[in-house]
Amino acid sequence: MTFSIHGLAVARGIAIGRAVLVASSRVDVAHYFIQHDQVAAEIDRLRQARNAVVDELKRLQQELTADAPPELGALLDVHLMLLEDESLSAGVKQWIEERFYNAEWAVSSQMEVIGRQFDEMEDAYLRERKSDLEQVTERVLHFLKGGTSPVVRTKPHARPQQELQLGDTMDVPLVLVAHDLSPADMLQFKQSVFTGFVTDVGGKTSHTAIVARSLDIPAVVGARSASQLIRQDDWVIIDGDMGVVIVDPSPIILAEYGFKQRQGDLERERLSRLRHTPAVTLDGQKIELLANIEMPEDADAAVLAGAVGVGLFRSEFLFMGRQGNLPEEDEQFEQYRRAIEGMKGLPVTIRTVDVGADKPLDEARHDAAHLNPALGLRAIRWSLADPEMFLTQLRAILRAAALGKVNLLVPMLAHASEIHQTLALVKQAQRDLDARGVAYGNVRLGAMIEIPAAALSLKLFLKHFDFLSIGTNDLIQYTLAIDRADETVAHLYDPLHPAVLRLIADTIAEGAAQGKSVSVCGEMAGDVGMTRLLLGMGLRSFSMHPSQVLLVKQQILRADTEKLKTLAAKVLDSEDPASLLLA
Ligand code: PEP
Ligand code: MG
Repeated sequence: MTFSIHGLAVARGIAIGRAVLVASSRVDVAHYFIQHDQVAAEIDRLRQARNAVVDELKRLQQELTADAPPELGALLDVHLMLLEDESLSAGVKQWIEERFYNAEWAVSSQMEVIGRQFDEMEDAYLRERKSDLEQVTERVLHFLKGGTSPVVRTKPHARPQQELQLGDTMDVPLVLVAHDLSPADMLQFKQSVFTGFVTDVGGKTSHTAIVARSLDIPAVVGARSASQLIRQDDWVIIDGDMGVVIVDPSPIILAEYGFKQRQGDLERERLSRLRHTPAVTLDGQKIELLANIEMPEDADAAVLAGAVGVGLFRSEFLFMGRQGNLPEEDEQFEQYRRAIEGMKGLPVTIRTVDVGADKPLDEARHDAAHLNPALGLRAIRWSLADPEMFLTQLRAILRAAALGKVNLLVPMLAHASEIHQTLALVKQAQRDLDARGVAYGNVRLGAMIEIPAAALSLKLFLKHFDFLSIGTNDLIQYTLAIDRADETVAHLYDPLHPAVLRLIADTIAEGAAQGKSVSVCGEMAGDVGMTRLLLGMGLRSFSMHPSQVLLVKQQILRADTEKLKTLAAKVLDSEDPASLLLA
């Protein structure tokens, strides 16, 4: 039966495919297709892993001493029984034989199917047996990986065969459905088989949503109970424009969305012709369109979209999911070098690490003890708390600046003391490199304006920095006291709130008055509904996901900044700005 689920639209377009449900803890289980002639070998690999678990459990059973609690023996019996369960093993085999899933993927898919049957059981005792099933599954997955301790997650930044060989085995498009995905998990799915994403939680400017947008595939977040309502292998339509997920669509609905999908493809093709057109308004104002990137390889998409540089390289993605093994200077230098070379001589703005809040370094270190992580040791606060780590990053960025035009951007500054410490550490990093005789280049220094306190102390910032970049995602979060990652308050996360608009307008005006460049690099910059307003406020530099660049350029080509000044003045004065922007 067809039904729909409503969430938040985060990445445009339509995806139609079969659902792959993934438990958050199993996101980095390898997902890849095997070739037709590998089926027998894959089933054999599975059999060996299963036998290894059976042997292990039997050995444990034998080793049980007479005084061991009787529940332990019973538990091992249950686990052994589950391993011999026909529906589990036949189901897993079916995923391999019919879908050509690798064994790990097949095991976790079947685990989701059977897990649901347990959830629906009336008897509470039987229902609780789901945790036994999960433990058995983890053991099998562990043996499939060939490990020796029951670890579920893979090594840092290991991208288990996610660079899939699609080949002729891939005949069914797949969409990923999960309760939650961390930004690092999301990043793992770059170049994966999935053509769309749905998550139960998350806000529009949560970092998971931001990464989804950078993948440029349709995504809906904050879809509440989607991962409960959608079953493994259901046909699903993800409408990333409207934030709707349609489950088990009828043929008529499928045909309608198939048509929309083709229209979207045509529109993209039409837009791609604007790539080499300069971004100049009708009244001759030149606008700078920059790209936001998360990894060096994203530079390709930025160049392809016609961006004239990178306005925000979120360097923290190089630090995440590494179980605390932070990248050394040489490794960071190498990644920055790749981004600079990828941009082919265009400037690259590298933001120093911004971990914390909804970007934990890794799940294990996601410190729930901090009640308000967004107000805690995040971004520059984290960097200044560990000067050696910060100096390592600064040296790597300065070295990279010898290879091209590099701007250094600092997130979350609010206090004069933080500014002074940061600038002193930049000098210290230069001295370190001088002492080592290592070449480095000049950088323009920029500050993010993303805390209201910063937007209200612009003189201080303009005195010390060459440029400013407005992080609207956080500026809205901190001005309105709305957690950007919390879908329950997403309706209050309002970029058009007069207080937010006032802070943005003042920052742009103050920067212009002092001849310093001001950019917006939050999601507002890539929102075509905001382009006219920002132009009217005097903004001349926008930084956004590569996928948005041409859409925003289209708006710019149709705009007259003189006329938009009047619109901006009215919007700033209005109680209902949205209605003025729609007019
Ligand atoms: C912002 O806050 O607007 C921003 C660009 O930084 P991030 O989204 O990474 O916090
Ligand atoms: Mg921010």
